[in-house]
Amino acid sequence: MTTPSPAWGPDFAALEAVDPQIAQLLLDERDRLNSGLQLIASENFTSPAVLAALGSTLSNKYAEGYPGRRYYGGCEVVDEAERLGIERAKELFGAEHANLQPHSGASANIAAYGAFLQPGDTVLAMSLPHGGHLTHGTKVSFSGKWFNAVHYGVSQDTEDIDYDQMRALAREHRPKMIICGGSAIPRLIDFAAFREVADEVGAILMVDAAHFIGLVAGKAIPSPVPYADVVTFTTHKVLRGPRGGMLVCKEEHAAALDKAVFPMMQGGPLMHAVAAKAVALREAATPEYHDYARQVIANAQTLTAALAAEGMRPITGGTDTHLALLDLQGLGVTGAEAEARAGAARIVLNKNAIPYDPQPPSVASGIRVGTPATTTQGMDEADMKAIASLIVRAVTDESQAPAVAAEVADLVAGKPAYPV
Ligand SMILES: *Cc1c(COP(=O)(O)O)cnc(C)c1O
Repeated sequence: MTTPSPAWGPDFAALEAVDPQIAQLLLDERDRLNSGLQLIASENFTSPAVLAALGSTLSNKYAEGYPGRRYYGGCEVVDEAERLGIERAKELFGAEHANLQPHSGASANIAAYGAFLQPGDTVLAMSLPHGGHLTHGTKVSFSGKWFNAVHYGVSQDTEDIDYDQMRALAREHRPKMIICGGSAIPRLIDFAAFREVADEVGAILMVDAAHFIGLVAGKAIPSPVPYADVVTFTTHKVLRGPRGGMLVCKEEHAAALDKAVFPMMQGGPLMHAVAAKAVALREAATPEYHDYARQVIANAQTLTAALAAEGMRPITGGTDTHLALLDLQGLGVTGAEAEARAGAARIVLNKNAIPYDPQPPSVASGIRVGTPATTTQGMDEADMKAIASLIVRAVTDESQAPAVAAEVADLVAGKPAYPV
C-alpha cells in the first residue's frame, strides 16, 4: 500500500505534526457540526470532493487574468480547471457568460457595482431590515458610502416585497441599477416585475441570488437568469460548494464584469476555490442534487408549519424556499433570547429582525431558520417535526437546555454531517 501523496490534497497527519493546535481545532469543529443542529439558513455542509479540491496544490498558483490571457506563466493546468468551471456554470444556469473568480458574495456584488456604476450613482435595492443585504446600500458598506441608495421594503399587510413601492421609487429616483434578492426573503421573487420596471426606467437589473441560487441550480424554483443583466451569488449556501462568490451575465456585459472582478476589484484568483466551485457545479447538475433542492424546500415548509403550530408566527405566512422568518412576539421571547437558548441546547440558529420590528437589530423580534444543512445530512419531514418541537422547548424554557441537547445528540447521531 502506498500512502497517497500529500501534494494533492488534505493530509491530516502532516497538519497534526506541524500544528497540533490547529489540527485539534479542525477536529473540534467537526465534532461541533456532528453534535448539533445547524439551522443557519446561509450554511451548508460541502462535500468531501469539494474539500479535497480546496485543500490542494492549486492554492499555490498565481493566475491574474482569465484562461488563455494570464499575467503569469505556468497557468496551463489552472486554465483548464477554470474553463471547466465556466462551461459548467453556463450549462447549469443557461447563462451566456460566467465568472468564477469573486472571492465571496460581497466581492461579486462589488464587481457588479464597479461594472455598471460611477460613485454617486443611484441604486434601488431592498432595505436591510426588510430582508436585503449589507452590500445593497447600507451606510456601513461601500455600497451606501459611495453610492446613492434608495430602498424599497415589504408591505405591512402581506410582509412580501412591495412591488408598487418599488415601481414608484424607480420612477421617482431613476436608479442606474435595481437590485433584488436578500438574506431573509422566504418567498419567490417576481423577476419579471423587476425586469419590467428596470426596462421602464432604463436601469440595469442585478439579482443577488446568494441565498437561493442552489434552489435554481436544482430546478426547484424559477431562475432569474433570463431576466437579469447580472446574477451574483455565493457558492457556499444552498449551492453547497466552497466558500466563495460567482456571477453569470448576458454576453453584452461579459467584458465589463470580467474587468470589474479583475483588475478593478480583486487581484489573483484563488484557483483552489475556483476548482472547488467547478466540482460543486458538477455535483449540482446531478439528479441527486435536484432531489436535494426539492427536499430542502419540503423540509423548510414542514419545519415552518410545525413552528407555527406552536406559536411562532411565520413572516408572510410561510415559505417557498429554504428559509423562514419567525416572529416570536406571541411567545414573549426576543430573537436574541431565542438564539442564546437554542444555542445552549445545541441548536444553532440566528436572531433576525422582522419587518417593522419594534426591537433594535441587536435584540430583534424574530429568528431565521433554514434547512440546507440538515437536508444535506439526510433529514426529512419527520425530522423537521421533531426539530420544531425541540426548538420551541429550548426557546420557551431555559431549563430544558440539557434535556433538549441530549435529544438533539440522538437525532444527529444517525445522520452525522461528516461521518467519522
Ligand atoms: C450571503 C450574502 C452575500 C454575501 O456573501 P459573502 O460571501 O458573505 O460575502 C451577499 N448578498 C446576499 C443576499 C447574501 O445573502
